[in-house]
Amino acid sequence: MRASAFHITTLKEAPNDAEITSHRLMMRSGMIRKLAGGIYNYMPLGLRVIRKVEHIIRQEMDAAGALELLMPVVQPAELWMESGRWEQYGPELLRMKDRHGRDFVLQPTSEEVITDIARNEIQSWRQLPVNFYHIQTKFRDERRPRFGVMRGREFTMKDAYSFDRDVASAQKSYQVMFDAYMKIFSRMGLTFRAVSADTGSIGGSQSHEFQVIADIGEDLIVYDPASSYAANIELAPAPCLLTQRQAASAPLTPTPTPGAAKCEAVAELLGTPLSQTVKSIVLATDPEKGPAQVWLLLLRGDHELNEIKTGKVPGLNKGFRFATEAEIIEHFGCKPGYLGPVKMVKPVKVIADLTVANMHNFICGANQEDFHLTGVNWARDLPEPDLITDLRNVVEGDQAPDGKGTLAIQRGIEVGHVFYLGTKYSEALKATFLDEGGKPALMEMGCYGIGVTRIVGAAIEQNHDAKGIVWPRAIAPFEVAICAVGWGKSQAVRDAAEALYAELKAKGVDVILDDRDLRPGIMFAEWELIGPPVRITVGERGLNDGVIELLGRKQTEAARVPLSDCCTQTL
Ligand code: ATP
Ligand code: MG
Ligand code: MG
Ligand code: MG
Repeated sequence: MRASAFHITTLKEAPNDAEITSHRLMMRSGMIRKLAGGIYNYMPLGLRVIRKVEHIIRQEMDAAGALELLMPVVQPAELWMESGRWEQYGPELLRMKDRHGRDFVLQPTSEEVITDIARNEIQSWRQLPVNFYHIQTKFRDERRPRFGVMRGREFTMKDAYSFDRDVASAQKSYQVMFDAYMKIFSRMGLTFRAVSADTGSIGGSQSHEFQVIADIGEDLIVYDPASSYAANIELAPAPCLLTQRQAASAPLTPTPTPGAAKCEAVAELLGTPLSQTVKSIVLATDPEKGPAQVWLLLLRGDHELNEIKTGKVPGLNKGFRFATEAEIIEHFGCKPGYLGPVKMVKPVKVIADLTVANMHNFICGANQEDFHLTGVNWARDLPEPDLITDLRNVVEGDQAPDGKGTLAIQRGIEVGHVFYLGTKYSEALKATFLDEGGKPALMEMGCYGIGVTRIVGAAIEQNHDAKGIVWPRAIAPFEVAICAVGWGKSQAVRDAAEALYAELKAKGVDVILDDRDLRPGIMFAEWELIGPPVRITVGERGLNDGVIELLGRKQTEAARVPLSDCCTQTL
């Protein structure tokens, strides 16, 4: 690639809505341009990175035996009705009608369609196991799209779906994907952690997230530095209840400990295992039992505020309504949204092992409006500085019997998520096969997502300096930039730069030749912002001594290298 023929449009300043470094740098380097909230054009420079990310994913998915196919972005609503998610998914699911008034959705994920494919295509146990994947545009009407590609509304995901004849085989498929994910994120040069996680609206019984460690991450990870225990805070309160000793020996899915009775109450109420609790706090009343019972609900997953307001909460088998102000005053001794101490005047079903004092910490840190309406979204809505302290209060709170909680907390960006689904979708859509005995059996499923475009932002969060992006080589838009200084004036520079460019290209290096005849300061600043791992400067002065300058993006001093050695040193 020649810079004169490429589209390089860097900006001095990022727009105001770019709050975090990666968003700012992606805008400034010209990788993306905003079209609407959470919807971006991927410009040629940004697309190169996305393609490299996809390439690594494809290679590892293929190596793991998965088969690529491509499912449509637009999906008929009938399949979503069959699975029940037409009702459950909430406003994140973008719905539309065609000219005949038929309902469709823009896919946020593809369990329904792939299960439909499986039930039509797979008849016999001989066709199993099989794992299908695609890399496709997703649409989720996120409540708060932000951080550029990190939380977009339209984004690219790799999603894979495994089908197996029994649980043992399905668990193997899960492990194969888990291992493939470890390879994928390692190859991309990311610092990450696999953590046990909530299964959210996708459903299922076991799951792990792959979290890129970064301070701006929206997820919180609780881990024990002394063991392999690591979990998303969404799995709290269970991890909060673990003592240090228990945490050290805990299996990846945490088991409820001291407050077991209360924990069971949550599980019963939510109709899910405890390990799948909680994110938001809601004050609500059970209409069957009347206003005498005010519940403090800790809800799991990504439930939208609107749904909760109308009492539709996926996973809850009863319709809940919001407690009235009078009920809240009666039971809590304070008004909803009141930011002072919460006094419990009557026994209230405080679900899960958060004490009222701890609850107070959350409430005090919360955005008043949010709490007034529905409560607090732990991970996203609390002001930054208080959050970690508040969570520490919970993690290291009253319930650790030996008083020595040493679970540590980190922030992470969720770039991948693997789920063991069991038969949730095969049952709903009746995806059966004939087993060895000729009897119909339900397929065991798993699903495995990677946020392709989110990875680009996450990688920049981990790899940048004051001057710009510092790409890991595997996903850099270019591996090498040759900066020809004095291109217009010097035949010697043109010849040397062209020769080097041809040589590197022949060796398979992804190289760009900057032949724009820019002043060196401007040219260097631009490449520092764009961030290829190696910059080679070819200038007349160096050529007189038979050398060029080789500068690694992380280095401050360029090495003077004989022209003849340059190619080998770059490789
Ligand atoms: P989050 O908790 O960040 O909302 P999720 O748990 O809803 O993500 P999954 O359903 O697990 O997401 O989807 C698989 C992957 O898709 C995620 O691990 C993430 O990398 C990516 N992803 C999800 N939502 C977005 C988004 N709005 N923008 C970009 N990537 C996303
Ligand atoms: Mg989500
Ligand atoms: Mg998540
Ligand atoms: Mg997820």
